[in-house]
Amino acid sequence: MSRFVNLVDLFQHLSKNTWERIGDGYELSISQSEETLTDNNLLEIKRSGLKNIHIVKFNKPKEALYGIDWEWWIGSQRNGWIKFAVQAKKIYVPSKSYNTLDHKVKGRLQLDILDEYARKSQAVPLYCFYNYLLDTEPILKPFWRDCTDLFTPTEFGCTVTPSSIVRQALIVKQKKFEFIHQQRQTIPLYCLGNLGCIFKFRNNFDNFMIHGNLPSHIKYSLQTDVPLREIEHEFPKMHFEIRNDSDDELPKRRNNVNNGEFSKVSVMPKRILVINFGENDYYD
Ligand SMILES: [Zn+2]
Repeated sequence: MSRFVNLVDLFQHLSKNTWERIGDGYELSISQSEETLTDNNLLEIKRSGLKNIHIVKFNKPKEALYGIDWEWWIGSQRNGWIKFAVQAKKIYVPSKSYNTLDHKVKGRLQLDILDEYARKSQAVPLYCFYNYLLDTEPILKPFWRDCTDLFTPTEFGCTVTPSSIVRQALIVKQKKFEFIHQQRQTIPLYCLGNLGCIFKFRNNFDNFMIHGNLPSHIKYSLQTDVPLREIEHEFPKMHFEIRNDSDDELPKRRNNVNNGEFSKVSVMPKRILVINFGENDYYD
């Protein structure tokens, strides 16, 4: 039995949980990182007991890779699947801004990596924002464009927006909560727990398409519950050359620090999530 009625209910819980964690982390000086918040949401999903949401287990390849945070497959075997490539971003509470929106990995804009990955793998590129605001009422009211008429600040804990909105934000040099959430394309995460909402917002999404089937490696994992050992070959080939001496979030290889030396990396998601609105049958 699940304590959640459905996915919308679970996603509202994730939003509330994220909101409160960032808030408490800020008040109590135990900062919650993007990674921590994502892992915690993952745990909450696992704990939910909902039968139609699955996390695909896989072992990360050894080589250094760029990672996008999530890959989400939402749909059903009968009606097909929509694929999302997702980058998470946490708000910086004092300035209400996303300071790492223009983050570069090995000299390349993270946004460009996400967009290229999404294009090559026919996924919708999305940003998922983890939010908390100190003063909510005056700020949030005008931005609320939920599918219901409820106004609950904690439902802003997790919001999603197409990557094109982040690109606009960078062009006009705006990294603030207000700018992102003024855009009508920015919606609460829980809308993705509802196929009706996804289709309502489909024109906002780049690369929106229905995939006829889940990839075989994901189906295999869901059928067997065996962690995938080697899945890198399943991802779109997106190798590009990078400078070994540039700043990045990966540990530097000390034995390979020649300035200007290049090596190749490939991109894959750190986590894969499958949300099944159909029968829980992956065998057909
Ligand atoms: Zn909605």
